[in-house]
Amino acid sequence: MVIIMLGAPGTGKGTVAGLLQERLGIKQVSTGDIFRKNIKEGTELGTLAEKYISKGNLVPDEVTIKIIEDRLNEPDLEKGVILDGFPRTVKQAEELDKILQLKGKKVDKVISLTTPDEEIIERIVNRRVCSNQDCKAVYNIVLNPPKKDGICDKCGAELIVRKDDTEETVRARLSNYFEQTAPLVDYYEKQGNLLTEVVSKSINKLGKDVAEEIVEILK
Ligand code: AMP
Repeated sequence: MVIIMLGAPGTGKGTVAGLLQERLGIKQVSTGDIFRKNIKEGTELGTLAEKYISKGNLVPDEVTIKIIEDRLNEPDLEKGVILDGFPRTVKQAEELDKILQLKGKKVDKVISLTTPDEEIIERIVNRRVCSNQDCKAVYNIVLNPPKKDGICDKCGAELIVRKDDTEETVRARLSNYFEQTAPLVDYYEKQGNLLTEVVSKSINKLGKDVAEEIVEILK
């Protein structure tokens, strides 16, 4: 099964994808995580990606598509994948369709998360992520705080603020989202596999509630 998580930064894609990974037994693959790992390890890809990520811009399509194409060839994704943060442009979506077609697969479900704009900035500014690359748990210091300040409940590693979670970068990421990624809602609506979910404290619906709903729908 191929699931895509679509949504502006801060809507909870990573949180929902992480929960779906646990519940459905298929892996979450985040292009953002792959870039951050490469930046941390100082690879050539990391150096290139950082130039874009630090400004809140998208890494070029040809680079990102190649990464996903290679990753999808790995045996641990044979059973399925939850793509978190890919595709982010129509070009990426078209290329993904081609890559999957060659494997006799297709996109089965696209989960589009929406959150009121005013909540997005607040959520990102309050976001803390686990520094352990193998854990990557996500917290919100107001809505979903860790039991112990600054420490991950799951693995005990230190919680950090993502470098691109500054208000200025978030605004650039949001404007890039609406310009380059939002057209994918139409793209997948036409394919007939779009499921839209609102994540908002105003209706008492957080990532974990949405994940439960999706698990029920996919049953
Ligand atoms: P994320 O962790 O999904 O918020 O991604 C962090 C950053 O990585 C984004 O703001 C982009 O700069 C870059 N990035 C992640 N996924 C993609 C993608 N599919 N295409 C281009 N850039 C991406």
